Amino acid sequence: MSEATDTRGAVPVLRRGWLRLDRRGAGLPRLLRRRGLALLLLAAAALVLVMAGNSWLTGRYVAATIPQGENILRLAVSGLRGELARYERLPDLMDRNPVLVRALKPDADTVDLAAANLYLRHVAQRMGLSDAYIMAPDGTTRAASNFDQRFSFVGERFDYRPYFTEALAGGQGRFSALGTTSGKRGYYFGRALRDRGRIVGVLVLKIDMDAIEDSWRAAEYEMIVTDSEGIVFLASRRDWQFHALAPLTAEARTRIAATRRYDDEPLEVLPLSPAGRVEGHPILRLGLPDQRRDFLTVSEALPEADWTVHVLLDTAPARRQALTGTLAGLMIFGVGAAGLMAWAQRRARLRERLSIQAEAQAQLEGRVAARTAELAELNARLGAEVDERRATEAELRRTQRHLVQSAKLAALGQMSAALSHELNQPLGAVRNFAANALTYLERNRAEDARQNITRILSLTDRMTEIGRTLRTFARKPNAQLSEVALQDVLRDAMEVIAFRLDRVPVTLRLDLPSDPLRVRAGPVRFQQVVVNLVSNALDALEDRPDGTIHIEGRRDGGRVLLTVRDNGPGIPQGLEDRIFDPFFSTKGVGSGLGLGLSISFNIIKDFGGELRILPTERGAAFCIDLPGVES
Ligand code: ADP
Repeated sequence: MSEATDTRGAVPVLRRGWLRLDRRGAGLPRLLRRRGLALLLLAAAALVLVMAGNSWLTGRYVAATIPQGENILRLAVSGLRGELARYERLPDLMDRNPVLVRALKPDADTVDLAAANLYLRHVAQRMGLSDAYIMAPDGTTRAASNFDQRFSFVGERFDYRPYFTEALAGGQGRFSALGTTSGKRGYYFGRALRDRGRIVGVLVLKIDMDAIEDSWRAAEYEMIVTDSEGIVFLASRRDWQFHALAPLTAEARTRIAATRRYDDEPLEVLPLSPAGRVEGHPILRLGLPDQRRDFLTVSEALPEADWTVHVLLDTAPARRQALTGTLAGLMIFGVGAAGLMAWAQRRARLRERLSIQAEAQAQLEGRVAARTAELAELNARLGAEVDERRATEAELRRTQRHLVQSAKLAALGQMSAALSHELNQPLGAVRNFAANALTYLERNRAEDARQNITRILSLTDRMTEIGRTLRTFARKPNAQLSEVALQDVLRDAMEVIAFRLDRVPVTLRLDLPSDPLRVRAGPVRFQQVVVNLVSNALDALEDRPDGTIHIEGRRDGGRVLLTVRDNGPGIPQGLEDRIFDPFFSTKGVGSGLGLGLSISFNIIKDFGGELRILPTERGAAFCIDLPGVES
């Protein structure tokens, strides 16, 4: 049975979607697998989307830090420039100083050298220089501001330093390096010292960069300054100093070794590797075993010092912000999706409920329609049956009328036969008596003739009597009811039935009070009823030698009762209800029409009374019960 046709019960059984698959057994796991795969793909897609979104957002947030980095960079660069500019003009002020020139002379004595030493120390102290010293053209340091200290430059040779060679060549020597003697880092300005136009030596001022570098330490960002070889000269992190940004080439190492720029520092490569770019600015990733940080790098060249200044902004805050943003977005999306799902689910449930309702409604309507059709059919059948019944009733009534008519005609015929029999006999007798009387008169036997004429008279009296009875019958049966005495009706009836009474050996007992029992009735029809009842009694007593008919009339309260009893076989048991039916007869064919009792019953009913059977031990008893009329 398919689910579409399964609509047993009041509510249709709905089997939809995977529930249907469930019945097939193997469907569910496969479906679940497919669902699981789809979910997995969806989750992967969502993850990729979230990651892409997060990465994009990170880029945006990181990019937003660029202006800040540029600002920091600008400040740092101008700070460095300012620092260098502070000392840039100082050699110009000192290069013609006779104390220094004198100390460079080959014949300079201890006093000259001491004067130069003191002067240089004074200048260094006053100007905040790291060191100040003068070198002879062969690179030997003649006098120095640190002449009295442990790592004094005096007597040291720095002819390998570019600031010396460049200055000796008449130019301006600039160099940043690690001091080979002091082990201290510095920026060097070199300037030729002249005596009457001739270069006699080189003045070197070494600037300490520690203060500047220290100012970077507390900052949230990292700051590095690299030289032309890409080696970190200044750094906010001490451990980054004298490290290379990228692996050094052999030539670079040779160049560095030649100038002993970083003394014996190993110049290892910083653990910073490029990790993409944001708006053209590289991202550098610090890959230490205990630390992994990404820096947005903003750089600017400082050509006068042959440096590049880099600001490294940690991207962690931007990442955190992006992550927060992504999570917030995810949450908003989640809430939105959950809302959407709830809405979709509600809609689906509503749709399902509506469809169930519609189905139930359709079913109900179907049932109502079917029931209505059934009822309509039943109604039509009933209507047809009613019509049929009416037609049958009409037919019955018609037949009944016909039969009543026939019964009347039959009764009339019977009565006519009886009458003709009753009249022919006296007529014959009258003719005989008249002929005899005539003969007697011819023979002059007047006495005999008179007797015969007397008999003729008595016979004509009888015939008149019969005629009188006929007149009674001739009255219209539908004539209006009139007040009649029961005694009169009985007398007339007995006259009508007399011809039968004479033939049967039956004892007739009449019990009537002397005062007339008055009722309202049609006398002829009443007579007919009595004749019927007595005739039936005679029929029942036909073969009985001791037949008795007992007719009793009496008053019972306001009613008048007329009972006709006989001692015949009585009404057969079980037929009491049927004997009043038209055409019901136990008599043989041609003997009875079975209409007598039914017509009698109706006549009495017309008079406002009742004809009923009385219970008896023997024979049959019929009672006519009529409302009495007070005399
Ligand atoms: P019918 O006399 O033509 O048969 P009725 O209507 O007069 O028709 O009587 C119907 C039937 O009632 C009779 O056939 C008879 O069986 C029964 N019946 C009537 N009167 C008596 C009676 N006095 N005794 C026994 N049976 C009777």
